[in-house]
Amino acid sequence: MADCIFCKIAAGEIKSNIVHQDEQVVAFRDINPQAPTHIVVIPRVHVASLNNLGPEHDHVVGYLVRVAAQIAEDEGFSEQGYRIVANCGPDAGQSVDHVHFHLLGGRSLRWPPG
Ligand code: 5GP
Ligand code: ZN
Repeated sequence: MADCIFCKIAAGEIKSNIVHQDEQVVAFRDINPQAPTHIVVIPRVHVASLNNLGPEHDHVVGYLVRVAAQIAEDEGFSEQGYRIVANCGPDAGQSVDHVHFHLLGGRSLRWPPG
């Protein structure tokens, strides 16, 4: 999608610190990290929010979560623990309208989140 920051990151048009990319998903370090490790994992396909997911996205979202768990292992905190979270809509503070999952690790995370 033309004016989407994350589509531009996925296309390499905006520079980012990419930790994983393949045909379906891209993972890059968040520009404003909320934990010692904070990685954003996105599908290459543009979907505005979780509310817009259809059955055609089931495969990529499932794969994306597995990639995120693999990155947690690569980053060295899979045993200690981590959080994968997706913000949807204004009450959750979604600020980029392209489905994405945050991978947060490297510190103890409070529950419930704020
Ligand atoms: P949201 O607030 O929508 O759940 O998450 C969007 C995330 O994208 C935020 O944590 C924000 O810091 C991150 N972000 C926004 N623009 C950029 C960018 O240009 N580069 C990177 N690496 N992260 C970004
Ligand atoms: Zn997009």
